[in-house]
Amino acid sequence: MRLKVLGAYGASDAEHNLTGYLLDDWFAVDAGTLTSKLSFAQQSRIQAVFITHPHADHIRDLPHLIHNRFSQNTGMLTIFAARDVMDLLSKNVFNGIVWPDFSVLTSPFTGKPAVQYRVMTAGKKITFNDIGLTAVPVDHNIPASGVIVELNGQAITFTGDTGPTSEIWKRTNKTDNVVAVVTEASFPNDQQLLADESAHLSPQTFGDELKKISVDAPVYASHRKIPFERDIESQIKNLRDRRARVLLEKNYTL
Ligand SMILES: [Zn+2]
Ligand SMILES: [Zn+2]
Repeated sequence: MRLKVLGAYGASDAEHNLTGYLLDDWFAVDAGTLTSKLSFAQQSRIQAVFITHPHADHIRDLPHLIHNRFSQNTGMLTIFAARDVMDLLSKNVFNGIVWPDFSVLTSPFTGKPAVQYRVMTAGKKITFNDIGLTAVPVDHNIPASGVIVELNGQAITFTGDTGPTSEIWKRTNKTDNVVAVVTEASFPNDQQLLADESAHLSPQTFGDELKKISVDAPVYASHRKIPFERDIESQIKNLRDRRARVLLEKNYTL
């Protein structure tokens, strides 16, 4: 599969982008960065987005993606999220104040709504366009679920933001042909307290998580905070686990 990393940071400036990933150009995970890095035509090819949690750095571009779809003659966009995450999105974002609920508005171009929401039950695998999707809760400071995506005989796990966790590793370890794991390391080791309090990982706790992962595949640290990106990178290297690496904003072929 092809993994296009549109944003691999937990903050943004002119050269760093918020979390957003695209698989085979049509399935997105998180929406911190989507519209800001994709042409209108590229956006029209996205068929679905899975949202890990409603923090602003993971949904910044979502209202704009939906709005752009409303103005395009293309297929419906499906938004996947675990039930508790979807409830928060409905209540706090698509509430008619921050942004309209486009699932009840008819696009003049297609005669149908531009978007539909699909709530996922934690731990229950569903199929969408021949891919398998399993939402698995992680340990962040608001409701959050990662996702295991099974596509063309390969699997990839995205945790989104998380502190030390376990369920998603158990599911990942039982999944066939995992080709990559994308998790996080937000703060350097000397800010472990802040990492713990905000339910994030540092390279040190990323290293502890690695021990729970039995698959032989690269495990990427995403969501670095910009001022510490070099420290985090060297601390990830110092773990001396050949699977451990930082995620870069580029295209990966897995
Ligand atoms: Zn985040
Ligand atoms: Zn978060």
